[in-house]
Amino acid sequence: TLNDVSKTFTKTFKKGTSIKAVDHVSLSIEQGEIFGIIGYSGAGKSTLIRMLNGLEKPTKGTVKVAGRDMGAIKGRELREARKEVSMIFQHFNLLWSRTVSENIEFPLEIAKVPKKKRKARVQELIKLVGLEGREDAYPSQLSGGQKQRVGIARALANNPKVLLCDEATSALDPQTTDDILDLLVDINKRLGLTIVLITHEMHVIRKICHRVAVMELGKVVETGQVLDVFKKP
Ligand code: ADP
Ligand code: ADP
Repeated sequence: TLNDVSKTFTKTFKKGTSIKAVDHVSLSIEQGEIFGIIGYSGAGKSTLIRMLNGLEKPTKGTVKVAGRDMGAIKGRELREARKEVSMIFQHFNLLWSRTVSENIEFPLEIAKVPKKKRKARVQELIKLVGLEGREDAYPSQLSGGQKQRVGIARALANNPKVLLCDEATSALDPQTTDDILDLLVDINKRLGLTIVLITHEMHVIRKICHRVAVMELGKVVETGQVLDVFKKP
């Protein structure tokens, strides 16, 4: 839930100027929903979802995820909260010197999950995202779609409640985009995971989102069911 949230960046190179990346936004996203945020480049989408996992703090207003005030917590509590709100990226952000299995295992190592449990969990995740047989491959040996599957498996490793997708299909071709979107729907249904995705592509919103918010210049200018928002003249 975002309650009257604004985020202002102050430019250091030109004193006194500032950018309102997010401007008085209130939004309520339900548990289990696939919620899309669409808008042109610079509309404030990234800044908005980065506030959902505490990567950015709001300048004004409150951002609550599963009851936690993401703008107010820090240190250990913030690290715990981040396990519940994980993220996938346009350029995957994989570790290139590690194999598929090792990439997926990484967040489990950080969470100090015992080795035996980690191995079992990695196998489970590999199966969930359909990467059987590619466990020992390096990211450079994978297609774009396979790389994003690794990203998704890694994001799910610690059983998050929310998955944030930052232009997660924008670097993929149309067929691969559809495959990854199908996987996200499957995960949403099977795990009851809440998905918040940002995109500049209408197709992505139409294909998988339940509701959508349209952003322009930091503001949410429209929000509702996908069909209602996009059928207007
Ligand atoms: P979008 O994801 O919709 O492309 P962003 O949230 O990335 O939009 O950016 C919104 C506005 O905030 C843009 O004008 C951008 O230049 C600015 N902005 C984003 N992050 C920063 C930052 N760390 N410092 C300064 N300005 C930023
Ligand atoms: P893309 O070509 O899709 O933009 P990048 O090459 O920028 O992807 O890499 C994506 C991520 O992988 C980045 O977070 C980057 O830091 C990391 N990365 C890229 N190359 C290496 C490498 N040789 N070793 C470790 N990390 C790397």
